[in-house]
Amino acid sequence: MRIRKLRDSGRKLSLGAKYLERTERDHDRARLAANPLRAQYGTARWQRLRWSILVRDGQQCRICGLVETDTSKLVADHIQPHRGDEALFWDASNLQCLCKPCHDKVKQREEVRARRTAREGGG
Ligand SMILES: [Zn+2]
Repeated sequence: MRIRKLRDSGRKLSLGAKYLERTERDHDRARLAANPLRAQYGTARWQRLRWSILVRDGQQCRICGLVETDTSKLVADHIQPHRGDEALFWDASNLQCLCKPCHDKVKQREEVRARRTAREGGG
């Protein structure tokens, strides 16, 4: 049992970067399949909407109040997760300007909550 485990992990290591690259791509594809609206993040329409949100909110994070002049460090965040709902996705009133650190914290909390809900089998 123990010997087989060691051999398996050795094989994974020897596959190296190519292996990692492939799983990352597969992961992206899986995410896109689960949520087709993700593709919209690359469109000019989304870029325009995102920009309008950052300007509307004065490039200020709605959680911590940080004013960030570098817009690459700001995120137009969906307040209510759109979960593939196009109306929610494009609704400016469902968007808020967040700094990246706050955005990542919010998303982490949401994921933990989603996992817990799934485990307990109810909302
Ligand atoms: Zn913030």
